[in-house]
Amino acid sequence: MIRHLLIFVITAALGALVALVVRSAFHQPYAAPADSHEHPAATAPAADKTPTKPANDPHAGHASTPAAKPVNDICAICGMDADPKLTAIYQEKVIAFGCAKCPPKFAKDPERFGPYFLRNQEAP
Ligand SMILES: [Zn+2]
Repeated sequence: MIRHLLIFVITAALGALVALVVRSAFHQPYAAPADSHEHPAATAPAADKTPTKPANDPHAGHASTPAAKPVNDICAICGMDADPKLTAIYQEKVIAFGCAKCPPKFAKDPERFGPYFLRNQEAP
């Protein structure tokens, strides 16, 4: 139970971190959120008073949420169908595990299992 929580928290934190990095790399502080219509600075200068648009809208921009789609649908460790709720990040890709026993195994040896997750194959 505690382990589940830990995994969840770590995964969420990693996702948030990735999103934050991506966001700060690409996000223009006062650009319109989402990829709506681009206004290429056509407004009069110094008249850009966007009223109370919070800069930290969690759904702003194009950064995907931490719960992005896993790249695999079978677990490389146990071969079961991947559960999208049991995920980790490997090489910036979301991978999903078949059961709760697998994330700790992956954590111990990500380089062994990671490539199989990316290929959606069960490890030998
Ligand atoms: Zn498993």
